[in-house]
Amino acid sequence: MVSFLNLKENIIDHDLCTSCSLCIAACPKELLSMSDDAVPLPLFQDHISKSLDICGTCNLCSDICPGFDTETTESELRIFGRNRVEEERWVGIYRSTHQLATKNHQIIDKVAAGGAGTILAITALEENIVDAMIVVGRDEERPWIPKAYITDSIEKVIECAQSSYCITPNLELLKDPRYHRVGIIGVPCQIQGVNKLLNLPGDSNAAALAEKVVFTMELGCASNTSSAGTEHLITEILNVNLDDVVYMRYRDGAYPGKFVVRTKDGIEHSLPFYRLVEEFKKFKTFRCLSCADWWSGLADISIADGDPNIFDSSRTEKSSKPTSTIMVRTEMGERLIRLALQNDSIELFPYVFENNLGLERKRQRYRSYAENSSRKIPLPPGGDMMYSEIMSDDEVIKNGIGTENNRTSNLV
Ligand code: SF4
Ligand code: SF4
Ligand code: SF4
Repeated sequence: MVSFLNLKENIIDHDLCTSCSLCIAACPKELLSMSDDAVPLPLFQDHISKSLDICGTCNLCSDICPGFDTETTESELRIFGRNRVEEERWVGIYRSTHQLATKNHQIIDKVAAGGAGTILAITALEENIVDAMIVVGRDEERPWIPKAYITDSIEKVIECAQSSYCITPNLELLKDPRYHRVGIIGVPCQIQGVNKLLNLPGDSNAAALAEKVVFTMELGCASNTSSAGTEHLITEILNVNLDDVVYMRYRDGAYPGKFVVRTKDGIEHSLPFYRLVEEFKKFKTFRCLSCADWWSGLADISIADGDPNIFDSSRTEKSSKPTSTIMVRTEMGERLIRLALQNDSIELFPYVFENNLGLERKRQRYRSYAENSSRKIPLPPGGDMMYSEIMSDDEVIKNGIGTENNRTSNLV
């Protein structure tokens, strides 16, 4: 089957849509838009029964969708010339790993950890590697709602510093006709979609869109949350009226940061980050809970907190030097790092990546879905690993990382 019906019946109806919005950007007939729901989904402009006639032989939206088949095998062959081996199951193929801390005084106080995503996006704009970046900030009218922007403004990139813990469609912005060389910061499913786009033949309907992509950076993603989770924190936990909110950040202030809301009367309301993690559990989608990847392993640079257990740091109020863990995978990734070093805007520290609480939660959860779910779940990136024991999410949080149990399945 081709047409939008294929996407609807095989992805959307199985709750496998990640809300990346790449299908919106790719549709050559501009037939799609994202819904306004807490978990946004693609909408067909006409009655779905007409899609076979309207779409004709097109199947592009299904071809680039990362919802079920992330096409990691093909993407890795294109990028690296080989596929990951079993030991690389959860980290993918890479050239080097480091801890990174920004030295740019404009952003040091604004980023959640080491500021890798923000400073490398600024470097790419300043060095004219791209003419725009896709980043996530806040809706200007409703600052409690995360919103994606495509921007050539360094001020806007800085305003969008700090991770968002909310599902935010961003890839539809790739079709913005003002920009032709674009860098993207996204979560793994979004980077997988972009790479499916790049895997298409050069004469495909989406070739012009693919040509715009200069580089990608990804953020480690344990699971994302619907916007209802953020509204729940504000209205039910902090007892704040949404209309009174003038500022919202998920990781504000000194590391590891707090969920912070400021209201019109100038009062700041806050919640420790670990409380956010606990509350957000009620607002996860099936696609995120069954997601197979913490990093896609396909971005030029993959990023995570330098601190491998931010939940614990938040709970115990342990403060440490804020850094980002980065995994550099490609020549373009190395070029960005080199330029940032030359500009004296970052410092790098040697680092061997071993594990991260978010990653540990994800690998245990994915294995549990793979063994127990009767539903269709996303394909893993090649062969999966054996586990001596599968822990629940609460057990992983309680045990932390680095216990005997967790170490039985080596990461690298
Ligand atoms: S391309 Fe993205 S937004 Fe479209 S159906 Fe697939 S996952 Fe959802
Ligand atoms: S991308 Fe192709 S199949 Fe999908 S909605 Fe558009 S025209 Fe139809
Ligand atoms: S958990 Fe997976 S599907 Fe959900 S936002 Fe993260 S990468 Fe995407």
